[in-house]
Amino acid sequence: MTRQPFPETGRDWSDLRSEMQALKTGDVDWQNGRVPLYVFRSDQTTYDVGKQAFFDFFSENALGRNRAFPSIRKMERDVLDFGLSLMSAPDDADGAFTTGGSESILVAMKMAREKKRAGKATGDGRMNIVAATTVHPAFDKAADLMDMEVRRGAISEDGRADPATLRALIDGNTVAIVGSAPCFPHGVVDPIAALSDLALETGIWLHVDACVGGWMAPFFTMNGRATPTFDFRHPGVRSISADLHKFGFCPKPASTVFARDGEDLARASFVSGPWPNGRFETSTLVGTRPGGAVAAAWAVLHHLGVEGYRDIARRLAEMTDAYVAGIEAVPGLKMHAVPDLSIINFGSDEVDIFAVADEMSRGGWLPGLTNAPRGMHAMMSLFHDPARDDYLTDLRRAVEVVRKDHRQTSTQATY
Ligand SMILES: *Cc1c(COP(=O)(O)O)cnc(C)c1O
Repeated sequence: MTRQPFPETGRDWSDLRSEMQALKTGDVDWQNGRVPLYVFRSDQTTYDVGKQAFFDFFSENALGRNRAFPSIRKMERDVLDFGLSLMSAPDDADGAFTTGGSESILVAMKMAREKKRAGKATGDGRMNIVAATTVHPAFDKAADLMDMEVRRGAISEDGRADPATLRALIDGNTVAIVGSAPCFPHGVVDPIAALSDLALETGIWLHVDACVGGWMAPFFTMNGRATPTFDFRHPGVRSISADLHKFGFCPKPASTVFARDGEDLARASFVSGPWPNGRFETSTLVGTRPGGAVAAAWAVLHHLGVEGYRDIARRLAEMTDAYVAGIEAVPGLKMHAVPDLSIINFGSDEVDIFAVADEMSRGGWLPGLTNAPRGMHAMMSLFHDPARDDYLTDLRRAVEVVRKDHRQTSTQATY
């Protein structure tokens, strides 16, 4: 492979910028709703507030918030407090600001493991995490890093975790049970009340992965939509992960992890051994963190307030309902689950849905896919709303083309 040489001489910004803008022309057109994940947006003003706040604190390092940047410390504390209230956390609860869902989940699984270690030893094999097949791979990553195993149990007909199946996977080495709110593949919230009962009965840590729903589902509920509660009101819930950079509509990288008992978070903190510069302590994985992400989250949460988030929740719900109705109106297509938030997944008993996905990508849409069951998947935010008519028209046409050609092959090879 030929290696790109390190540039000998410097170039000015305008020259670089045009080259970078040209690179962008090869990207999928996310601004017009062609990308079904990765990017989240509410309205233009909120987007601009987040961006402005991020760049006003572009240089500050959140690692130094206690010694150098009380501004960042104050804003981080406020954001965590807002999250704790939103999740109905008790007084002794605490949280940490992280760079993303994966880091929040790693911290939560470390808390669960340390709690297990601090308790009476009941098992002597490899420790494990028990969850439905639908939990995010970040749990496998956390388990891999901490030499644990993830045991995945089959889901129910409605796409949710099955508490009886999970119960059968638990043993003396189980450090945590996990439920999602909602899970990424089907967009449905697991039965957290039943998992909470199971956790209390077995004395095992229950983590709720609300990376998608944490900062949005509560506003669906406030609007009177029957979105299931998933938070600390369920007494078995010990920790929750919730991403600000998804449906909190804050700039990346920003997520939060909360613990019912602040002592659990403190126990799982990392404290350095001896090194020449003395004590080094972090409750998260990374060291240096962008102060801008903290400032931007603070600004976005204040800019929107409960009122703003409720308004977004209402628009998201209406948009999702319209998408679902539109998809169900296409002959041959069916939803795999009834979405609790704004993740949709649909398939077909009549045509090969991956061939339909091929047809859609030819039309400039990046298709999200699931392989069990085979489906097309989208995690939608508000820029998907103006794209709806185009999407549904192209989808209907794609299904017709695939049906007419009896097409049963697809290039969606990784699935
Ligand atoms: C996105 C996601 C994660 C991981 O978050 P990152 O910010 O990508 O690290 C975890 N769980 C669920 C359900 C997610 O959708």
